[in-house]
Amino acid sequence: SAKKAGRGSFLFFEGAMAEEAAANRALESDLRSALKLGELSLAYQPIVHARSHEVIAREALLRWTHPVRGEVAPDLFVPVIEDAGLIGQVGNWVLREACREAAGWVDGARVAVNVSSAQLAAGPALVGHVIHALAASGLEARRLELEVTESIFLAGDATTRTTLDQLRAVGVRLVLDDFGMGYSSYACLTNGEFNTLKIDRSFTVAAAAPGRPAERAIVESILTLARGLDLDVTAEGIETGEQAALMVALGCGQLQGFLFGRPEIPFDAHTAVEPPFGTIPKRRPTIRAA
Ligand code: C2E
Ligand code: MG
Ligand code: MG
Ligand code: MG
Repeated sequence: SAKKAGRGSFLFFEGAMAEEAAANRALESDLRSALKLGELSLAYQPIVHARSHEVIAREALLRWTHPVRGEVAPDLFVPVIEDAGLIGQVGNWVLREACREAAGWVDGARVAVNVSSAQLAAGPALVGHVIHALAASGLEARRLELEVTESIFLAGDATTRTTLDQLRAVGVRLVLDDFGMGYSSYACLTNGEFNTLKIDRSFTVAAAAPGRPAERAIVESILTLARGLDLDVTAEGIETGEQAALMVALGCGQLQGFLFGRPEIPFDAHTAVEPPFGTIPKRRPTIRAA
């Protein structure tokens, strides 16, 4: 019967969830040793001016090379870091390391750091980490961008807005990442904290695909909205010349994607870094992305 089938699929999900929980526990213990051994690093991906292709900023993206599993995707391990209550510690390291790296860039490009809702929920602690990362590196506040997603507003927490205001007061720039994917996009913009909207890759890709007039109209309306609110716009996930040309034609000012550069680990990252978590990181040869 339908009832029986329903119960069956419930048991299936329960089993799948137990399996996932066990996998996450294994990942969590591996992560704890990864932090001790300095196995985490940051890769940087350029964000370019849409017409001149000049590098405006570079986004710092966490990388973890697991001794057995190899590269683990951040979409997989960042949630585990959050659930383990380690995001404050790791996020602080990311901030300090990204600011230190960017302070050495001769082209003066900004650095963009992803900040998860769990980090933002820490409020004053995050603001303190940002201030310290800037002070320790000597990086000017206006060269640091923090990328947050709409999910930070889901809790409906007033401290979220206070924290965003405090970060703006420090002088850093705020980017609304993955724009278009959430449910309350417009409400996120009413307080004017953000400098930049980042159009999610799914829209970038679909807008340039034949037979997808809806996505194209959505991208056009995001750009109109951004002009009205005096916001910069970055289109993420640009892989082809057609996608880039469309975004330029629609008036998008900044582009990011494999067409302009993949996330790359800087050459000196494993030798010049201060010990991330109180231990000396292993020196290892750096493999540069092609
Ligand atoms: P995100 O912030 O939206 O980052 C963009 C993702 O798209 C990155 O994946 C990047 O490598 C990928 N990407 C960029 N250009 C292209 C392209 O042309 N084609 C395709 N197919 N992909 C492209 P990545 O590095 O796997 O990161 C995934 C997510 O993990 C990030 O999404 C971000 O939400 C999170 N993340 C990464 N580093 C950190 C971090 O330091 N802290 C926090 N809290 N989250 C992070
Ligand atoms: Mg991002
Ligand atoms: Mg994004
Ligand atoms: Mg994303």
